[in-house]
Amino acid sequence: MEYFKAKRSTEDNPLANSRYFYCKPESVLRNDGIQDMSFDEHQVKVAAFDLDGTLIKTKSSTPFAKDGDDWMMLFESIKPKLVDLAAQGYILAVFTNQKCLTSRAHPFPTPEMIKKIRSIIKHVGVPIQVYAAKQYDKYRKPGTGMFRMLLHDMNRAGLTIAKGSVYVGDAAGRAGDHSSDDKNFARCLSVDFPKTDVTFHVPESFFGEEE
Ligand SMILES: [Mg+2]
Repeated sequence: MEYFKAKRSTEDNPLANSRYFYCKPESVLRNDGIQDMSFDEHQVKVAAFDLDGTLIKTKSSTPFAKDGDDWMMLFESIKPKLVDLAAQGYILAVFTNQKCLTSRAHPFPTPEMIKKIRSIIKHVGVPIQVYAAKQYDKYRKPGTGMFRMLLHDMNRAGLTIAKGSVYVGDAAGRAGDHSSDDKNFARCLSVDFPKTDVTFHVPESFFGEEE
């Protein structure tokens, strides 16, 4: 719990809970971004995203980020789309597998990861609920543990998930994709949570960037 600093959002600090990170359980780095959001209804749609290769890419063009500043949005259309979804009342969520945080081959310190996610949220300017799986356990995609945590966090805020929710990820098993973990994650969601009806999209189609 080294990184936990509970702060409530205020008018001056509307992204407070989105920007403060802690590990709970130990293998999931996460925040309480939902607490920065406000809703008119109890049933809320979720727009959930993978992080690397979906919302951002490295500035350095290397496969793994060198430090917390080594990122840029994948497409210019992403920020306005996220702002628009938030305005429509969607919960914005990120589910990311972060092998680098525990890998000897590509060590990336957790504080740099926190710095990176904070700067992404600051750039987008709207609250985002983030879950990052650090280890190989039930929380790692295509496992559905992080999604279960989201449903639990929504429940604590008095919310349930509405039909029309989406999950967007680049690992879809296409030629050149490093895996099909995102597509499989969406499939596993439909098995483990059949009532949630989450549809899967690749970033190019969701953000209207198809050639
Ligand atoms: Mg990815």
